Amino acid sequence: MFYRLKQAFYRFMYGRYGNDALNNFLTVFYLILVVFNLLLGSYTVYLLSLVLIFIIFFRMLSRNIDKRRKENQKFLNIKYRFTQFFKERSRRFKERKTHVYKKCPACKATLRLPRKKGKHTCCCPKCKNSFKVRVF
Ligand SMILES: [Zn+2]
Repeated sequence: MFYRLKQAFYRFMYGRYGNDALNNFLTVFYLILVVFNLLLGSYTVYLLSLVLIFIIFFRMLSRNIDKRRKENQKFLNIKYRFTQFFKERSRRFKERKTHVYKKCPACKATLRLPRKKGKHTCCCPKCKNSFKVRVF
């Protein structure tokens, strides 16, 4: 019985896209909306959650695998940039007592310099431009 059901499911899903990282993200977002709606009872939030669940199922059952894959890749790129940004921030915060970050005025590259008080002349390793830096 269970085996047959499984077989039928596989036959149904054959050639269809299935699940991915974007859908997982949308599902979590959907669940948050549902909980939010339980507390608020807002009609717009309800409609939004309906649209969201429609998108999730549409993507899962879609046969246009190439397009879905591209959507997922776009999502992963955005997610990567987002996580990198916060990683960079937390690293700067952890090193705030030992290092300072300064931008090169010529090429706009960010330089990580040891925190030594006073005025220094600094040479950018990227464009070899030297400029003055004040560290407090
Ligand atoms: Zn530079």
